[in-house]
Order: sequence, then C-alpha cells, then structure tokens
Amino acid sequence: MNSTADNLDALPVTVLKGVGPRVAERLLRLHIQTVQDVLFHLPARYEDRTRLTPMGAVRPGQQVVVEGEVELAEVRFGRRRNLLVRISDGTGSLTLRFFHFNAGQQAGLARGTGIRCYGEVRGSAAAPEMIHPEYTLISRDAPPPVEETLTPVYPATEGVHQLTLRNLTTQALAYLGDQAGSAGLVDWLPAELIAAHRLTSLPAALHYVHRPPPNAPLEQLAAGRHPSQQRLAFEELLAHHLSLRRVRQRARQLSAPAFAAAQPLLDDFISGLAFTLTGAQQRVVSEIRQDVACRHPMARLVQGDVGSGKTVVAAAAALMAVQAGYQVALMAPTELLAEQHFRSFSDWLEPLGIAVVWHAGKSKGKARSQALQAISEGSGAVAVGTHALFQDEVEFQRLGLVIIDEQHRFGVHQRLALRDKGRTGGQRPHQLVMTATPIPRTLAMTVYADLDTSVIDELPPGRQPVKTVAIGQERREEVIESVRKACATGQQAYWVCTLIEESDVLQCQAAEKTAELLATSLPELRIGLVHGRLAAAQKETLMSAFKAGSLDLLVATTVIEVGVDVANASLMIIENPERLGLAQLHQLRGRVGRGSRQSSCVLLYQPPLSEQARERLAVLRESTDGFEIARRDMELRGPGEVLGTRQTGEMQFHIADLLRDEALLVAVESAAGQLMELAPGHVSPLIRRWLGEAVNYGEV
Ligand code: ADP
Ligand code: MG
Repeated sequence: MNSTADNLDALPVTVLKGVGPRVAERLLRLHIQTVQDVLFHLPARYEDRTRLTPMGAVRPGQQVVVEGEVELAEVRFGRRRNLLVRISDGTGSLTLRFFHFNAGQQAGLARGTGIRCYGEVRGSAAAPEMIHPEYTLISRDAPPPVEETLTPVYPATEGVHQLTLRNLTTQALAYLGDQAGSAGLVDWLPAELIAAHRLTSLPAALHYVHRPPPNAPLEQLAAGRHPSQQRLAFEELLAHHLSLRRVRQRARQLSAPAFAAAQPLLDDFISGLAFTLTGAQQRVVSEIRQDVACRHPMARLVQGDVGSGKTVVAAAAALMAVQAGYQVALMAPTELLAEQHFRSFSDWLEPLGIAVVWHAGKSKGKARSQALQAISEGSGAVAVGTHALFQDEVEFQRLGLVIIDEQHRFGVHQRLALRDKGRTGGQRPHQLVMTATPIPRTLAMTVYADLDTSVIDELPPGRQPVKTVAIGQERREEVIESVRKACATGQQAYWVCTLIEESDVLQCQAAEKTAELLATSLPELRIGLVHGRLAAAQKETLMSAFKAGSLDLLVATTVIEVGVDVANASLMIIENPERLGLAQLHQLRGRVGRGSRQSSCVLLYQPPLSEQARERLAVLRESTDGFEIARRDMELRGPGEVLGTRQTGEMQFHIADLLRDEALLVAVESAAGQLMELAPGHVSPLIRRWLGEAVNYGEV
C-alpha cells in the first residue's frame, strides 16, 4: 500500500479552496477531515431543477422551478411581518412569501423584474405559494440556461450550506480524476471481487452519484437503485460487516475459562424438568456447550419466537458455568422481566443447591448489601437483575458467563463493555445474548455479525396459535362481556392499557382509571393492577397472585410486554393497539397461548384507523410467526425503528439501506470472507473510509 501525501485519505480537507480553520472545524461535525471524506459525504437526495414548470400546472407538494415576472411586491403586517411577492408567467401566478427580508431585497423585487425560483409548492392548487424559495433575478429576454443535471442535496450542518458542499465536492472530484487509483483513491476491493459482483469502478460510481449526468434515470436514482449507488452501498455494508467480523475475530484471541464436557448438574436439571426440551432447544444447548468448552469467550445470540422457550436454554447455559465453579450474571432490560427470570431461575436451580441472588437499581438496605456480598464472595452463584449488575459497586468473585436478555437495546459497544467489565485476570466471561423479538435473518446477519447465531425455530408441542381479532371501541361492552364469560369458566385474562405518551405517570393513571371502570362492570371478578410505578415487591406479589390463580383479570400497562409467563392466561385485550409497533404487539400477545388451551387476543382499537394502522393490525391477525411479523414491521416502519438502533445511532448509513439493499447482504457476507482472505491489509482502511475513526470495536 502506498501512503504518499497525495493519497486522498491522508490529504487534509484544508487543501480545498474555501476551507480555512473555521470551515474545517464545522466540517468536523459532518465527520469530514480529509478529501476522501468529502468524496464519501454522499447526497441524501436529488432535486430536479432541469425543467421549468408552468405556474398554471404546479401542485402543492411538488418541488419545482418556475420562471416569470414580478407583478406585485408588498409588505403585510399580520401576526408576523412578511413580504409577499406575486409572480406570473402567463399560464398562472404564484405567491412567494418571505418572513426574513431586508430593504435591499425588497427593492430588487420591483414590478416587472424577471425571476426564477426553486422551492416546494404550498397552499392550494388555486392559490399556490412558495415560502422562502431559492431565487435568482434574471433577464426575461435572455434567461440563463436551466440546470443540466440533477442537483445533489447533501446532509448539511449549521454554517456549512449546500453551495459550500457542492463546491467542495466539485474540487474533491477533480482530485479524484477519472481513472481507478490514478489520483490517490485506493479501491480496497480486490479485482476478483469487483468482477464477481459486477461492480462499477469506484471513481466512476463517485462521479455519478455526486454529479449525475443529464440523462440520468431519475426514478432509479431517487430510489437509490442505480448501479453506482449500489456499488457504494455494497462497499458500505461490507465495511460495516467487516467491522463486526473483526470484533468476532478479536474475541477468538482473548481467553476465557473452558467449561468441562461432563455436565452432571445439567443432566440432572434436564431430566428433572416437567417437560422434554424441543429438538431446537436441545440443538441450541449443545451449540452453547461446544462454545463454552473452548478457551475463548463465547459470543452467541439466541433468537427464538415468543414462547419458544429461551429461558430454559439460558438456565442450561448457567448450569455449565456453575458446574465449572464460575458465577453467572443474568441481565434483563426491565425490572419486571428480571423478577420473572429470578423466579424461574430460583425455582429451577435452588433445588440443585445453587444460590440465586437478586440485584437491581432499586434494591435497598440489607437485601442490597447481602446480595453484593454474596456476589463478591462467590457464594451467590447466579446473580439475576437489571443493568445495575454491571455498575462499579458490583464485583464478581469469578464471573464466567454473562447472559443478556435484550430487547434490541444493547449495541455492540455495550456488549463489549460488559464483557470487559466482567474480566478476571486475563480472562473474559462467555456471553450469551437472547433477543426478545425475532428479526429477519438477513438483518441479523448484519446487525449481529459480531455474534454466532442460534435459532430456536420450534415451539413446545401442544401450543395453539392465538386467535386474533380487531374490534372497534364502540363494541367495548361486548368485549367486557367476553372477559366475564372467559373468567367464569376459570380462564384468566390480561387487559393491557397503552398510551402514546412516554410518561410513566400518565400510563399508570390511564391503567388505574381502566381498572376502576372494569371493576364496576365486572364486580364478580378479582382484578389486579400492575404498572411501572409500583414497588418491585408489590409487582411481585400481584404477579404471583395472578400466577397462582387468585386473580382473574390483570389490568396492566405495557410493562408486561416481555417475559411474563402465566400458562393459564388465555385471553388478552389490548387497548389502542394502533399505537404500538408490530413487534411489541406480538410480544404482548405472546403472553397468552402458553398453555394448551385455545387462546384469544382482542385488538380493541380506536376508529378511525389510518391506512398504515389497518395494515399493521391485519398483519397481526394473519400471522403468529414472529419472524414474518418482524419482516412486515420492517417494511412498514423501516429497519432503524425495528432494530431500535435509530436512537443509539448504530447502523446509520451514508448510502446503504438495510431494507432496500437486503438482497446485497448475502453477497456482502461472502465478500467479507474473501476480503479477509485475499487482502487482510485492506480491511482496516476500508472500515475507516466508511465508519471513520470513531469505530474501534474490540480494540484491546
Ligand atoms: P420465551 O422464549 O418467550 O422467553 P419462555 O422461556 O418464557 O419463552 O417459555 C415459555 C413457556 O414455555 C414457559 O412456561 C416454559 O416453561 C415453557 N417451556 C419451555 N420449553 C418447553 C418445552 N420444551 N416444552 C414445554 N414447555 C416448555
Ligand atoms: Mg423470554
């Protein structure tokens, strides 16, 4: 590899005209430091300024270029002072509206002046407007030519505007030249790969996406499906995938305790269970068993649909560590779920003489100090709790396995931090991640490429799919009747209250209100209420009562979304399901249908439903397969929402789109293997090109 000064990845952006220290500092906010970074700062979209639209033909919502003459310009003094400019071109007229303007600008817009504007049409078709359009004054007799090519629109930041970015990309493209590698931009993909995947050359692709030629296919470009865009998307996905694969590779160089092959505790546990493990559970348990027998930290993801029996698999893994004399930390995303796990683990493991301890943020006083002591002395073999388990005050004596029951809440950084936190001497604990919600396979391949994956693709025998119906609020009385009937025959039911507001307080108030009303309508039923603001002990008492059958109806907020496991509950009412995501609804619904009885779920919606809401509820009625539902959810809401990565900022792409480019993902995976083999030295610079310096997963 040559790294001479004119390599564009080493050439500071300050070599470009117009970039002094101040601009350079602002560019840093866009992660632009080098000329290469400018080239990889790709347009977010394109504007078509290649045609003039007659004013008589403009429609609200369109982005158009219009050209005409000023008819009238006047300042209006309404609630806000604004400058109104009426322009016309003979086919119709249009009003420009400016809230910020100066006297000079106003004077320039005198009656009869030629003007060309670009902007979004607002108002109505009869009275179209543009608010703060871009405009230039022109001579009506000799107007300048319109743009010949699509106008790229770049992600911008305060103080760095489109014109600046266009100017910088023009200069950077000049540095690039037009031959591969001729001017310091290395193509890190080996020729074999480029040929095999029929990829456009890198410089050609960059020229095309920054400055599409006049004949460029607009729709294809707008959809991101042009071969030049696809070439770059491929490379970007590859860079992401490689960054995660490298995490996995590095894990293989770390050491971890190897747990013995003989597992008498595990064998006792399995033979003592009230049920037989499904084939899928057995397979996953043996995959874990092989992992933990190696001297390197396991990093395994277990995916399985709601109710597929992930908890017992986690318990089996815990036993492997305990057998070898190591401690286990089991962490769940919510306190309620952690409590459920605590109960299951205590029930299963204490009869085998294994101490299970509880630790969460809300633990107080003596219970807290006793738990902490048991954990640090090693007498607490299995610690169950929330993320509080990984705070500084918690010290494990000999942590051998970390189990994370996650709801797409942890990113790779957090997983690595947990692994490092749990190190003892030179050894890292093994790590098992269980997802609460299944995600489509190709997506999992991308987002969890740092992990080995197991899938529990079989439900315990005897389960019947939950019957799901959608019913409007106007039939609420009927629904209440059906709860009465079901409970009269000894069944139990959940009534789930939802609210859009994130506010805990409001959620709880709504649930309290509902519980009161239901108690009035259903005086013969024993009704309990759980929500996030109850103390752990109260929740625990209520859940135990419900589980023991001493409550008929449990009114709850979405705190019961994951993990709650009461086999006798066979009816669930979800209020305002239109407010929730599909995956969340599927999780909730998974609380019923856990026994052998036919279960039902009523989606009690508030009419009228939007088109999208209607579609989502239909998906839920038609399918009970979590993987299928996740796929439809992703199509409806986009991958960022489904994965919960939008908030964390992980998996944000310059040009790739996980949904649109899904077809590339399989090729990306094989290309990653090839690249690591053929050109291992190219891996780091490729990652740096697309992900920047910020990403140093797994540096040790
Ligand atoms: P999830 O995968 O949603 O976390 P759980 O682990 O909560 O599912 O299991 C759901 C229910 O199924 C629990 O009551 C569990 O005891 C039970 N279960 C798990 N595996 C089996 C099996 N092989 N046969 C019968 N019931 C099982
Ligand atoms: Mg679970």
